[in-house]
Formats: sequence, structure tokens, C-alpha cells
Amino acid sequence: MATILVYVETRGGAVQPIAFELLAAARSLAAPAGWTVEALVCAADPAAPAVEITAADCVLTMAHPALSPYLPEAHAAALQAVVDERQPDVVLFGYTTAGLDLAPATAGRTGRTLAAYCRTLALDGGALTASAQVYGGKLIAGIEAPLPAVACVMPGAFAEDAGRIAGSPERIVLPAPATLGALKTRVLEELFPEAGGVDLTQASRILCVGRGIGEAAKIAGAAEVAELLGAELAGSRPVIDAGWMPKARQVGKSGTKVRPKLYVAVGVSGAPEHLEGMAKSDLIVAINSDARAPIFGAAHFGAAIDLFDLLPALADRLRAG
Ligand SMILES: Cc1cc2nc3c(=O)[nH]c(=O)nc-3n(C[C@H](O)[C@H](O)[C@H](O)COP(=O)(O)OP(=O)(O)OC[C@H]3O[C@@H](n4cnc5c(N)ncnc54)[C@H](O)[C@@H]3O)c2cc1C
Repeated sequence: MATILVYVETRGGAVQPIAFELLAAARSLAAPAGWTVEALVCAADPAAPAVEITAADCVLTMAHPALSPYLPEAHAAALQAVVDERQPDVVLFGYTTAGLDLAPATAGRTGRTLAAYCRTLALDGGALTASAQVYGGKLIAGIEAPLPAVACVMPGAFAEDAGRIAGSPERIVLPAPATLGALKTRVLEELFPEAGGVDLTQASRILCVGRGIGEAAKIAGAAEVAELLGAELAGSRPVIDAGWMPKARQVGKSGTKVRPKLYVAVGVSGAPEHLEGMAKSDLIVAINSDARAPIFGAAHFGAAIDLFDLLPALADRLRAG
């Protein structure tokens, strides 16, 4: 029977949310076609994370010391062995740091076509079709990838809940390939960012400043509005890279993933790597002078206006209560 294989990302023994989104994507593809969904958990000890996976028909586990902490070479070798052995028709990865390593590696090593940046997926005869978000979210491209194929799926494209439904999947323990005993790379040390006194994951309100603010000195106006709102101040990557705020305040793919009740994006364009960190916020308000900025696609409310016109007026209004 035709199958879809989902690569399950884990960190510290826990399944990452993207895995549930991929399971939701796999189920939506598999159900109409009558296909089977398999989930693959590779770790030094995959037992605990594997139990979290219930929305697949089958959960495959592979245990080997080289698989934790995450080492790209080890996971690429494990995937190659599993894909060569089980010959899935579609393999799904998240557009995450690990997915960026593993999707192209798996496609290249197993001779499969690759569809990247996918927001939607469908099966059309002998091909996987997808809409893909390219050029920083400015264009949506239609992709047709002949089967067997590998797809790299954007975080937030599929609802996590549908990948968490209860079930009783078959559980299969796979042998680790011999290649895991002859790796050329190894993890020397894991470095975690210093919290720097702020934990954005716990903030219920965040005001995020993007490159549109122009220069460090002008952040003060945004900081004042943040304070009046009772919000933590955050920055997009260019703001952090410029040294205008500490790294602990970066939201996005290579920063912190946040889910506050209120997220105000000020002068942020809404690139996929930024959306990855905040698109699940309960209420998103965007302020951007470019009405076509991709952030408006993710925002619940938006103002296409110069932020330097709006922020002082907003501060006055908030001060007045
Ligand atoms: C592997 C990788 C990881 C990444 N990780 C992250 C990450 O963690 N976080 C992150 O943010 N990015 C990340 N990026 C970068 C990302 O691709 C974008 O480059 C970045 O998000 C853009 O930041 P920005 O929106 O602040 O700047 P820009 O894209 O330059 O947008 C600035 C916006 O401000 C608006 N603007 C300008 N002036 C005004 C004004 N006066 N009033 C109102 N609006 C104005 C403009 O219209 C524009 O939309 C990553 C990229 C890669 C490749």
C-alpha cells in the first residue's frame, strides 16, 4: 500500500509541535487516497516521544546513541536507510533547522523530487502538488513533484490538533544502520542562548519591532507603547543582528517561538522565518507602511501606515486610558 512517512522532530525527549502539523498534513493527504501514514522517531531513546504519536497508522522507532542530541549526519543516514527499506511514496519534513538539513539530503540520496516551502499539499495522479511560499513570502508558486517525493512543509500551514487525534498505531522497532557507527561528525557541546532576563515564551503580550524602525535610537518610541500595553519588547532578526536588542528578544525561526495573547508587529515585513515564531499568537496586529507586506496575511488587524505617525498617537491614547 502507498505510504506517507513523517519525520518526527524531537528535542530533549519531547516531540516538537511541527511533527503534529506534519501528521495532520499526512492524514489529509492519505485519507482520500486510502494511503497509510507512518511516523519515524529517531533518537538515543525514542520510546517516550514515540508514545506521544497517536495519529499515525504506524510508528517506527530507531534507537542509537548517535541520534541524540540531534546530529545532521546521523539523522540523514538513518533516514536514508529507512526510506531505502520502506520506499514511502511521500516523505514529509518541517521547514525547520532540521528539516532544512534533512529534506534535501533525503531527496538527493534516495533519488526523490523535493517540494520546498509548502503551504498546501495534494495528490494529483502520479504527482504531489503543492503551493509554495517563495521569495520571503512575496510569491506563491505552484509545484508539481512526481512521486516518489519529499516535501518540506511551512510551520503553521496545517493545524496541529488534527495531528494529535487519538489512535492505536502499530509500533515497529527498526534496526539502526551500520552507517551510524562510522560517522565523520559528532556533537562536542550543546550551547543554549542566555535568557538575558526575559522569557518571551511566557509573555502574554509582545510588541515586536522590525527593521522598519530604522535605527536603534527610534526604538524608544516603540518601547514606550510596549510599556503602556504591558507588553514585552521583541525584535525581528535584523534588529537583533544590528545589536539594537539582545538575542533573547528575537522572535522567529532562529529566535524564540512565541504564542502570546497579543502580538503587535511594528515595521516587520512578515518573512516566513519570522512568521514561524509568532503566527500562532491569539491576536496579531500589524503596523506597516506597505499594504502588500506579507505580515498582513498573518494579521487579524492591520494598519497600513507610517509607524512614526501611529506610535505617538497610540501612546497618547493609551496614556489617556
Ligand atoms: C535560516 C534563517 C533564519 C532566520 N531567522 C529569523 C528569525 O528568527 N527572526 C526573524 O525575524 N527573521 C529571521 N530570518 C530573516 C528573515 O528572512 C527576514 O529577513 C527578516 O524577518 C526581516 O525582518 P524585518 O521584517 O524586520 O525586515 P524587512 O523585511 O526589511 O521589513 C521591514 C518592514 O518595515 C516596513 N517599514 C519600513 N519603514 C516603515 C515605516 N516608517 N512605518 C511602517 N513600516 C515600515 C517595510 O514596509 C517592511 O515591510 C531568518 C532567515 C533565515 C534564512
